[in-house]
Amino acid sequence: VGASWDGVDDGLHQAAIALMQAVSDAGGQATITSTLRTLREQSFLWKRYQSGNSGGLPAAPPGHSAHEYGWAFDMVVSPQSWQFDVGRVWKSWGGAYGGKRDPVHFELPGAGAAAWQLGEQQAAVAATTPTNGVGWLPARWKSAIYSLEDFGISMIPGVDYITLIASLLKLGYPDSQILAILTEPVEKLHEMFPSIPF
Ligand SMILES: [Zn+2]
Repeated sequence: VGASWDGVDDGLHQAAIALMQAVSDAGGQATITSTLRTLREQSFLWKRYQSGNSGGLPAAPPGHSAHEYGWAFDMVVSPQSWQFDVGRVWKSWGGAYGGKRDPVHFELPGAGAAAWQLGEQQAAVAATTPTNGVGWLPARWKSAIYSLEDFGISMIPGVDYITLIASLLKLGYPDSQILAILTEPVEKLHEMFPSIPF
């Protein structure tokens, strides 16, 4: 009761219901404390964990948690001494369990590793994607972006030069090299920087 199963893998949900029933059949009580998390919720938990205020429970960086993909739930068992026994039952059913490091965490097998991989992919894209348009550009580029023709660059309609330049700056390219890069044909630029959405 309380936690929503919206967006949670259906097989995982059914298995969680069976696990809660097993605890209740044995005379205990199971309480779900976390299911699907938004990116914002995971960011909050990550920051809390990093500042040492998570009560000993670990949290993955945003984008990296199985909770964000509906592949995990957290469950507290009463009596408390049953927590690891319930984890063992879950593992005997083929699930993956957080164990000593994260005793309340139950997930689909392989979910943690898969979520971590997705998080790393997102981080790689995010590293080259500016979020704030022209506002992100340093002052010298804010004016230069409107006079690129002066640098021998023929601006192609439909090409997002702001995103491209901001991304190249984030990647650490110096101004002179960016100007040289921008003289290349657009097709070549897309080949050179496939992860930049321009
Ligand atoms: Zn968890």
